[in-house]
Amino acid sequence: MKTIRFRFLLTFAALFLLSCSSTNPSADVVFSTVNIAPDCNNSTFNYSNEKGCDGKTYPNPVHSPYVIPFPPGTNFKTGLTNCSSSYHGVQYPDRYAFDFNVNEGTNFYASRGGVIAYVKEDQSSQGGGSGNWVVINHLDNTFGIYLHSPKNGIAVKEGDTIQKGDLLGITGRSGLAGYPHLHFIVTQNDYRWPYDAIPITFKNIIPADVIVKSYSSYKACNY
Ligand SMILES: [Zn+2]
Repeated sequence: MKTIRFRFLLTFAALFLLSCSSTNPSADVVFSTVNIAPDCNNSTFNYSNEKGCDGKTYPNPVHSPYVIPFPPGTNFKTGLTNCSSSYHGVQYPDRYAFDFNVNEGTNFYASRGGVIAYVKEDQSSQGGGSGNWVVINHLDNTFGIYLHSPKNGIAVKEGDTIQKGDLLGITGRSGLAGYPHLHFIVTQNDYRWPYDAIPITFKNIIPADVIVKSYSSYKACNY
């Protein structure tokens, strides 16, 4: 928690400095910027029972219980998303994972509420595997899994009851992560690898894509 507070202060200080130096447009440090959050226009979802690479159907985003794991108003970029390549390819248990490419130390929040089922946060950033991660049991036989936090980068403990939008921790690059990002996946029956992942949709994403694209820019809207 100390680390998180410190990171928050650092981010705040950095944003303050940026706002003071806005006359320098060539600054090459790119932050995830938080603007006034727009309201979602769910009627823009073009939903027609899209299927994932293993034939499972994406649920209609209009009724999705999942929101972007960053605050409304956040601009963000995706890395690998569903059924793409590398470990997100069809042959891997992580075929339905999303990579959110955000700076190391970015706060991330619960995409959906439940009870914290598992926390690991004792691994250094150089180790392999999943690194440090946190799991939410959604209490309907599905689990939300969030990977790659830095050591001591999880803000909750096992057994905590979590609401959608509650702080879970900060992002990092522990485990199999070539660069800092949040790897998020929803599974059914169990959260231990090799898990049975399911396709999900987000109800508060702009542009309103049913299947979130890889290496694309999005914004989180109000929910
Ligand atoms: Zn990933």
